[in-house]
Amino acid sequence: MSEVRSAPAVYGGTAATVADPDSVLLPGHDVPLGRYTTVRRLLPQRRRRMVGAWCFVDHFGPDEVAGRPGMQVPPHPHTGLQTVSWLVDGEILHRDSLGSLQTIVPGQLNLMTAGHGIAHSEESPADHPPVMHGLQLWVAMPDHARHTGPSFDHHAAVPVVTVADLTITVVVGTFAGRRSPATVHSPLVGAELLAAGEAPARLTLHPEFEYAVLVMAGSAEVAGVALPPGSLLYLGRGRSDLDVRAPAGSRLFLLGGEPFAEPLVMWWNFVGRSHEEIATARADWMEGRRFGTVSGYAGEPLPAPAMPTTRLKARDRDGRTSG
Ligand code: MN
Repeated sequence: MSEVRSAPAVYGGTAATVADPDSVLLPGHDVPLGRYTTVRRLLPQRRRRMVGAWCFVDHFGPDEVAGRPGMQVPPHPHTGLQTVSWLVDGEILHRDSLGSLQTIVPGQLNLMTAGHGIAHSEESPADHPPVMHGLQLWVAMPDHARHTGPSFDHHAAVPVVTVADLTITVVVGTFAGRRSPATVHSPLVGAELLAAGEAPARLTLHPEFEYAVLVMAGSAEVAGVALPPGSLLYLGRGRSDLDVRAPAGSRLFLLGGEPFAEPLVMWWNFVGRSHEEIATARADWMEGRRFGTVSGYAGEPLPAPAMPTTRLKARDRDGRTSG
């Protein structure tokens, strides 16, 4: 292990090619979600579309929601992805077109597999806790799995393991010798790291995976890089371990996986492979086909935005279009 601290490169609209791709700090940006919530979007970004099969990372809160609606996301469709909902504070009620009605609280996992198509809504229940804080993540489904029917899984508990002062919750995949019960379709990991003290921890990684870390609360030094909240530190691949040091109470999230080989078209809530697939999914939603109906949500389904006037192009994990 080198003790040299490399300065992270920062991707911006005009940044040149990064010489050392192993440590790239990607600032997030704020995006409205529903009528009452703003989230920090950390993926996709212009030049880093994916980390493993993780193709979408929203960090929301901590938000004070006492006496407010909180999260209110009306019924909307998905294709070709799995959604992972993870809470640190608060409560979210999920409804979907399979008839699922499931509340999650911190420490539990809601995993929705869209496959060919599903619709769902997410809301803070009327009588919700005063603070909302969590992650909404998407996992792109590989071609061999994405044409299946939809499913929904609630996991009331996922494995927890301690390494040095870090309490590690293995939300998805395998990490630190523990395996999440969540069903996924490519080798990947999503794990929360909560620091109980400031002792440095050395975590074992898969050299063939790429990884990224974000700070949900507090601060951290990861692989010798100071990581500010609101940013994603992309760590590349080829690492067999990772040094993490964080003040007590800091909460991080580690994402990783085998680099995803298939170029994707991502538009609105759809993950596909071509402009035509996306246009068909949009038309199916607007005309009431394929996605079924979400019952019980107090409000109208979300209409899809208009298709762009230019053709949607498939992009690979580094943001490059082919052809
Ligand atoms: Mn959704």
